Amino acid sequence: MSKTKIAIVTGSNKGIGLAIVKQLCKKFDGKVYLTSRDETRGKEAVAALEKLGLRPLYHQLDIDCMDSIREFRKYLEQTHGGIDILINNAAMAYKNNAKEPFGEQARNTVRVNYFGTLNVCRELFPLLRKHARVVHLSSYAGHLLKIQGIEPEASELRHQFSSPDATEASISNLANVFISKAQAGTHLDYGWPDSTYIVSKVAVAALGPIHQKLLDKKRPNDDIIVNIVNPGYVDTDMTSHKGFLTVDEGAACPVYLALLPPHTKSPRGSFVDTDKSIVDW
Ligand code: NDP
Repeated sequence: MSKTKIAIVTGSNKGIGLAIVKQLCKKFDGKVYLTSRDETRGKEAVAALEKLGLRPLYHQLDIDCMDSIREFRKYLEQTHGGIDILINNAAMAYKNNAKEPFGEQARNTVRVNYFGTLNVCRELFPLLRKHARVVHLSSYAGHLLKIQGIEPEASELRHQFSSPDATEASISNLANVFISKAQAGTHLDYGWPDSTYIVSKVAVAALGPIHQKLLDKKRPNDDIIVNIVNPGYVDTDMTSHKGFLTVDEGAACPVYLALLPPHTKSPRGSFVDTDKSIVDW
C-alpha cells in the first residue's frame, strides 16, 4: 500500500473548498482529493486547476448520501490505506428570500451541514493516520452566542451545546430537537434562533472538542488534531458574493490548520478565527 500522504477536501468544486485544494496542491507534500457531489462540476474544477499546472485527484462525494460516503471510504481504504488531512468544507445555506417553509429549510440545512459532516467523520476517522489533521468549517454564525432567543431557554441550549459532557449523540439530539420545533413552528418558544444556518454551524463547532477528546482517547499516541475554523466573510456563491475576503484569503486559515506540524500543542480542539487566533467559542 502506498505511503503517499493524502488530503481530502469536501465540497471543493467551487468557493473556499476549491481555493483550499489549490493551496494544498502547492503546499502539501502529498496528493489532494478535490471532491464534489456532482461529478461534472467536480471534473470541470479539476480541469481548471490543471490549467494552472496543479494535479489534484478527484472522487465523487455527496456528504448528504451515506452510499456515496461509504463508497469513497472503501475506495480510499483500498487505494491508499489511510488519510492525513480531512477538511470538512461542504455546506449549504438558503438565501434570505428562499420560499421553502422554515421547517423544511431546517431539516435540509441541519441534515447536510451537521449530519453530513458527522457522517463523513464517522466513516473516515478510522482511516486517519498518525499526525492526521482534521478541520471542520464553521462560521462567525457558529459561535455559541449566536444561539440567541428567549431566556432562560436559549442559555440552557448554549449550556447543553457547550457542556463538557456533550457527545456526538447529545449534539445530534439537540439538532433533531431544533428540526422538530422548526417543523412545528415553535422553535422560538424554546429559545432557538430564527436561523437554520446558525444552528447547523453551532452544532458543527460543538463537534470540534468532542472529536478531539474521542481521538485522544482512542488514539492517545497518534498526535491527531481536530480544529474548527471561521474562514471569514468570503466572496462566494454562498454569500451572494457580498463577502469582502477573496476565496484565497478564506482558505488561508483552514490550510494553516491542515498543515499544523507534528506535535503541535495548540490549536487543538479549538475554535480558530480567520486571523489564526484561537477564540473563545
Ligand atoms: P459555496 O456555496 O461557494 O460552496 C459550497 C460547496 O459545498 C460547493 O462545492 C457545494 O457543491 C458543496 N456542497 C453543498 N452540498 C453538498 C453536499 N451534499 N455534498 C458535497 N458537497 C456539497 O460556499 P463557500 O465556499 O462560501 O463555503 C465553504 C464553507 O465555508 C462552508 O462550510 C460554509 O458554511 C463556510 N463558511 C463560508 C463563509 C463565507 O463567507 N463564504 C463564512 C463562514 C463559513 P455544489 O456546487 O454542488 O452546490
